[in-house]
Amino acid sequence: MHEQPAASDVRIDAWLGTLVHVVASRQNRPNLPPTSCPFCVGGLEAGESYTVKSIPNRWPPMPDDRCEVVLYANDHDARLSTLTPHNMAELIDVWAQRTSMLGARDDVSYVLIFENAGREVGATIDHPHGQIYAFDHVPDRPRRRLAAGWRPDTTTNRIIVDRDGWVATVPSASPYPLAIEIAPTERTPDLVSLSATQRQSFGAILQDVLQRIERLHGEPTPTMMWFNQRPTLSAERSAEIVGLSDAWLNVEIVSPWRAPGVLRYIAAAEVATNEYFNPVVPEDLAERLAQA
Ligand SMILES: [Zn+2]
Repeated sequence: MHEQPAASDVRIDAWLGTLVHVVASRQNRPNLPPTSCPFCVGGLEAGESYTVKSIPNRWPPMPDDRCEVVLYANDHDARLSTLTPHNMAELIDVWAQRTSMLGARDDVSYVLIFENAGREVGATIDHPHGQIYAFDHVPDRPRRRLAAGWRPDTTTNRIIVDRDGWVATVPSASPYPLAIEIAPTERTPDLVSLSATQRQSFGAILQDVLQRIERLHGEPTPTMMWFNQRPTLSAERSAEIVGLSDAWLNVEIVSPWRAPGVLRYIAAAEVATNEYFNPVVPEDLAERLAQA
């Protein structure tokens, strides 16, 4: 039914070790659906009434049913920031369930929940949705954050909001002009481990932060969001990952906008060196978001 890559074609750059999935099948996917929205009730991907649901990605970049699309709501014009608390709670439950189901597979080591919101960051369908990739290995970036013992930085002048056991901060050294981290103040490794009360507070701070970004810019803002969760390796393989037992759930939200409608491009000197020149002072951004 879905156009799966025949097999994975994963290559590693000989000089830098960068991992690249070559996915020729994705060249054939449409930029935009030809007619109506496929995610609206009655559409191609969502025939029956629903509130939140996870469906297979029709153009998966990895084989073996590792890629899913999560529809947040049946309202085409909703955004993550505007979902009702009830809808938000259902979404967090679906994120946790999919993490648990995919993570239980022997061939899954890391479940990545993420969202590209807005055309500027490559979203091809406006209907509110995110995605899930279930990797057969732990990718380099989350692996490095784990090894470094990532935890929320709660003693700084970069706190945006601190409420009900959760804190949102601006990281001190992001390549992006807008970057935010949200985490529980007590260590919790993943979504699955959150109690019902914690899930409710998580939904509230996530929407609070997204609404602050919109107020700061005066309009919906293109963002990329992803969750860093505990890898789902089996107990026998857990020694492969440094820092695994200290895994601390967190959500990163970044935007390429440095001002409303103004994109900051990651340019040649930055791509060349992997060193960045960020025009936005993180402490100023935190203060503006705290007051937004
Ligand atoms: Zn729609």
